[in-house]
Amino acid sequence: MPKISHHPTTNHQSKFLETFNEILLPFEGEIQNFRNELLQEMSELNLRGVNCFHCRGTCCLKSRNSMGVTLYEGVEVFKNLLLKFDISTLESKVQEAIQKFRLDHPIYIKNKLFRKTYDCPLFELNGVKTGCPLDKETKPFGCLAYNPRSSQIQDGEDCYLREDLLESTHQNIEKNIVQLNANIAAFTGFENTTYPLPILLYKLIQLQVQFELQFQVDCK
Ligand code: SF4
Ligand code: SF4
Repeated sequence: MPKISHHPTTNHQSKFLETFNEILLPFEGEIQNFRNELLQEMSELNLRGVNCFHCRGTCCLKSRNSMGVTLYEGVEVFKNLLLKFDISTLESKVQEAIQKFRLDHPIYIKNKLFRKTYDCPLFELNGVKTGCPLDKETKPFGCLAYNPRSSQIQDGEDCYLREDLLESTHQNIEKNIVQLNANIAAFTGFENTTYPLPILLYKLIQLQVQFELQFQVDCK
């Protein structure tokens, strides 16, 4: 009989992640093209010496970061993190951020969710070496499209979200993203909406634990 722990396998080949991979597969090519356009813009900026190399990472921190992600973006982040970190470490970091920035206490202004600012918990996941630990191909779109305008930026003093780029390229894959998010919502049972990243990661961690436990019980 398999031993059941609170945090079973973190292997990326787990049944849970395999299911996500199956859901993502039909959409992967087009979404990757979209990501490539955002990455291309970053590398063109870099060729002109416009990059993040001298910055403390202001856009990942509370002073600037209120990032919200869709289900698809959260799943990509989650999959990438599981390749690199222990799930218990992830869980405690995201819980810490949720509590510290009260992300589980949403505020609505005129029926619209107010986007709270927070330090992204991923920013210091690598211990003393701060910075985003994600492979750039898996970062949320908003992170990829937030770029400096000039060189030698140290504290985000000349950076902005390239909404023009996001919107024009996003239009090409809008239908696919909508369908993909609906498919993920159907599998997870989560509301199909935009979440603060720590909230969505926490929900995915809990679901993975439940899913693996159920899988182990079914295999007995
Ligand atoms: S996901 Fe990475 S790039 Fe985006 S806010 Fe978090 S640490 Fe920064
Ligand atoms: S986009 Fe701007 S604020 Fe964010 S890390 Fe790069 S230089 Fe800093």
